[in-house]
Order: sequence, then structure tokens, then C-alpha cells
Amino acid sequence: MTVDPSSEPETTNQKLETFFGEFITHSPEETLALGKRIGEQLKGGEIFLLRGDLGAGKTVFAKGLASGLGIEPDDVTSPSFTLVNAHEGRLRLYHIDLYRLDFGSQENLGLPEIFADGNAVTAIEWAERLNVVPAGAIDIEMSYVSDCERGIRIKKTG
Ligand code: ADP
Ligand code: MG
Repeated sequence: MTVDPSSEPETTNQKLETFFGEFITHSPEETLALGKRIGEQLKGGEIFLLRGDLGAGKTVFAKGLASGLGIEPDDVTSPSFTLVNAHEGRLRLYHIDLYRLDFGSQENLGLPEIFADGNAVTAIEWAERLNVVPAGAIDIEMSYVSDCERGIRIKKTG
């Protein structure tokens, strides 16, 4: 993966700095609540890169972000055919899941336009499949710890 050098290297949302670090959640509800607390702080323009294996909790976290934006979390599902879904809340949420991406076909998804939308929040599952990492994005690395525990590492990219 390469970093697009043309844009700002850092997130402009200082409030999110308080969330950078490592967390262990002990239930899906806790992961949802963490996402919600972050979602409530968002101003628009934030891009979340969700990484981790199947079942790590990426969709649960995205539901939490949605909830913090005033979107019904149940509306945020693992998309089967649509790779990009837009949800309208306090801010628009683009929920992107690249799991079923054919390599090379992401050029047709309109990602640069989505990333440039300063009034929207973007959450990308399977972000490791991106050809170009948007600068200033927030990296969320999720890992399985036990049946009901997940490690969540939140940091700035770049
Ligand atoms: P992904 O999108 O990464 O493939 P999902 O969010 O769809 O993963 O699924 C995570 C699964 O793990 C759900 O079935 C959820 O109930 C379960 N789970 C168990 N403990 C946790 C936790 N602490 N945080 C998030 N999900 C958890
Ligand atoms: Mg998922």
C-alpha cells in the first residue's frame, strides 16, 4: 500500500486524539459503545480504516460509529453485493466493505470523491485491500483475543 502524499498528513479532529491507543472490549456491546463514543465526536471528513480478520468486530465497530452519528445501527450490515453504502445521520456515513472486492476493480467505486467529502464520515472494512491509503485516516486494528474479547488499536496513519 502507498500513502497519497498530496493531502494533509494528519487528522484535523483533535478530539479523536483522546481515543488513540489500545483497548480491550469484553462484549460486542462494548465494541459498539466504543464506536458510538467516537462517532459522537466526529465533525466530518474522518476516514476509518478497519483492519482485522473475519469476525474481529469491524462491522460491530462500524455500527457503533453509525449509532454515534444518529443512524440506526441495524441498518449497517455486511454488504453482500454493494461495496459502498451511504447512511444519512447527523453526518452521512459511507460504510465500505472491500471483502468481496475483485482486485483492481476499486477504481470504479468512486473512492476519491468519497474521501474528499468533508461532510461525511467513511468507515472501510478490509482496508488492507485499498490501493491508496487516504492521508490523515484513522487506523483501527481489531484482533480476536477470546470468544467475547477483542483487541482494538486506534492510531493515526502515516
Ligand atoms: P467483522 O466485520 O470483523 O468480520 P463482525 O463485526 O461482523 O466482524 O462480527 C464480530 C463477531 O464477534 C460478532 O458475532 C460478535 O457478536 C462477536 N463478538 C464477540 N465479542 C466481541 C467483541 N468484544 N467485540 C465485537 N464483536 C464481538
Ligand atoms: Mg464485517
